[in-house]
Amino acid sequence: MSIRPYRDIQRRRSRQIRVGSVAVGGDAPITVQTMTNTLTTDVAATVAQIQRAEAAGVDIVRVSCPDEESSAALKHIVPQVSVPIVADIHFHYKRAIEAAENGAACLRINPGNIGSASRVRDVVQAAKDHGCSMRIGVNAGSLEKHLLEKYGEPCPEAMVESALDHARILEDNDFFEFKISVKASDVFLAVAAYQGLADACDYPLHLGITEAGAQRVGTVKSSIGMGMLLWSGIGDTIRVSLSAVPEEEVRVGFDILKSLNLRHRGVNVISCPSCARQQFDVISTVQVLEERLAHITTPMTVSVIGCVVNGPGEARETDIGITGGGNGTHMVYIAGQPDHRLKNASVVDHMVELIEKKAADIEAEMAAAAAAE
Ligand code: SF4
Repeated sequence: MSIRPYRDIQRRRSRQIRVGSVAVGGDAPITVQTMTNTLTTDVAATVAQIQRAEAAGVDIVRVSCPDEESSAALKHIVPQVSVPIVADIHFHYKRAIEAAENGAACLRINPGNIGSASRVRDVVQAAKDHGCSMRIGVNAGSLEKHLLEKYGEPCPEAMVESALDHARILEDNDFFEFKISVKASDVFLAVAAYQGLADACDYPLHLGITEAGAQRVGTVKSSIGMGMLLWSGIGDTIRVSLSAVPEEEVRVGFDILKSLNLRHRGVNVISCPSCARQQFDVISTVQVLEERLAHITTPMTVSVIGCVVNGPGEARETDIGITGGGNGTHMVYIAGQPDHRLKNASVVDHMVELIEKKAADIEAEMAAAAAAE
């Protein structure tokens, strides 16, 4: 039996665009996005929500601009946040122009939906004048009538054709700074559409399984759909759509990328499911530990294992590990090696202390290496 190399993901070669300060496509890291669900006109609430998403690590945030007051609010929102803002525009070309003028880094707009050629020209000109990129967002649930008539139902071919039709309009206006999404709530449909689009063009692709559902089922669907695509090298930026708070979408997005070794951020906790052999309460320990480690952005792997059956083996691959050993004793592993015993003390407090120190050491090493360059 021969096993092929199985860890390397060869990313599709896409052209690179910019969403404000963030590069998307090419060899840029795969970025994580979310979308606010506050009223955009409520500037304070929207800024607070974006800042919570920033704390969770988001790279790009999308904000709806359904009316003139919302596109005007961008002028006050953008200066108060660090990440680039994508303005979500549906049909009205004036909202797109206002959003570009008011600081949006990217316009989510389908040029085929905004009317006459002169309106498209005006939007493209505004994007060029203000350094905005665009996202063409095709959705299986809102395909053009003529494509539904041609294909009979939403299908991958119709979605790819729609995306390429919109792309051609921008290309005809000498505009190439855009990415494309072809979302569907059906995992099979979304995956097939993205695969077709990946073959048909070299634009960066924004992945999403739309209306994926509540937190648990949405996470599962997104992980299957996006995981399949990312594993085959497709996808330059992702948004996990959940009926949950935006920062949860960000956390799930990072977890998907971390699982595929495509992005590293924060502490990756490896823990056992626990069973009758556990020597301490693994589930509650991990729960509290994850909450207390949420502020750490330094990539690190930690293992929390209930007993010696799998503890030493898992700890060998981690930066810091702990294994239950009986009689209130735990073995602590550092860099894969048994380091010291912990007896009758709080596992969580001890681990948090060790992990925070390790994170500070890694950050200091990285800063020293950067200064030496
Ligand atoms: S590592 Fe030990 S406690 Fe955890 S599931 Fe396996 S046997 Fe049970």
